[in-house]
Amino acid sequence: MPEKQYLFTPGPTPVPPQVLAALAEPVLHHRGADFRVIYERCLGRLQEICRTRADVLLFTASGTAAMESVGANLCEGSRAVVVSSGYFGERWEKIATLHGAEVEAIRYEWGETPRADEVAARLAELGGADIVFVTQSETSTGVVADVQALAAAAKQAGALVAVDAVSSLGAVPLEMDAWGLDAVASGSQKALMTPPGLALCAVSEEAFAAAKPSRSFYLDWAATRKAQAKFDAPFTPATSLIVALDVALGLLLADGLEATFERHRRLGRACRAGVKAMGLELFSPDEDRSAVVTAIRVPETIDSGDVVSGVRRHFGMTIANGQGHLKGKIFRLGHIGWFDIFDITTALAAVELVLAELGADVERGAAVTAALEAFEHQSVA
Ligand code: PMP
Repeated sequence: MPEKQYLFTPGPTPVPPQVLAALAEPVLHHRGADFRVIYERCLGRLQEICRTRADVLLFTASGTAAMESVGANLCEGSRAVVVSSGYFGERWEKIATLHGAEVEAIRYEWGETPRADEVAARLAELGGADIVFVTQSETSTGVVADVQALAAAAKQAGALVAVDAVSSLGAVPLEMDAWGLDAVASGSQKALMTPPGLALCAVSEEAFAAAKPSRSFYLDWAATRKAQAKFDAPFTPATSLIVALDVALGLLLADGLEATFERHRRLGRACRAGVKAMGLELFSPDEDRSAVVTAIRVPETIDSGDVVSGVRRHFGMTIANGQGHLKGKIFRLGHIGWFDIFDITTALAAVELVLAELGADVERGAAVTAALEAFEHQSVA
């Protein structure tokens, strides 16, 4: 028997069989009529997921390219404020700096939740900004920020708002138009249930109007928008991935966004309840908003890398270590996209076995029961 493989990381995430089957279809030509129909439908579905009428630009690259497209098209000569509280927030700082913005960082400790009132106060002190960069789901810590409130603070200060929604789009609510977001960057390999390789950036009319000549040939918003208006692409896109993404988005929308968000909330709740029942301490906030990734501290005598390598070696499961200075201190379980409660209980059971083997004092058998119980409670929100 080949060993069964499990992917419990916060990206890439498991891909449903219907999506995998679409990847096995013959390759389509990107200028063919058959591909155009799929491309048009896929771009329309992305608008629905972003809750926007704005253009969603699609690039053949990973999510970071969508973030970099914001830098390349908006940053030159601008005053940027970056709100950061982890590894990916710091990436916005690097991108904005590289592309010629004068960057002011509002840095929180990794694991803290940025506060809109503090961001508003800092923006007032600075006399406004051209662009404010925020991260919706900080995958390195499990914190999901209140993007609606942060965006309102940025708008109040007259700034455009750019959001890293790489791990959050399609997992937790995001309302591009209603919240006044100007650039929403994401990727295919998280809640959109598709393999890595596609980046998307939804861009508001205000952001297009403020755009400078692109500093990147490939990530040029104007060229991409012009081609996409004819359901074309300026360069050869990853046609097979787009076919697969279209199937995945169809599945997501058939379930409905609200039902999907509710499932993620319940999965997060189940994961946190299981972890606590085992006697471990959460690193990510113990709140429903943190429905994307659960970050867990290991007991002081244990290196989280040994938990990660243990579940892989014994059970063929991939989970994530901490990033940056949290490496060795926390491990992370993703519950993004095509996940159900038994993925959570399976991951928890394996972690429990490995921790026990490493000598941790864990309460045996309690995690699975607690997770199942917590999952049953429907939220009223
Ligand atoms: N931002 C966040 C919040 C992420 O989780 C990730 C991927 N882990 C990225 C950006 C980078 O995306 P990619 O690796 O697809 O370039």
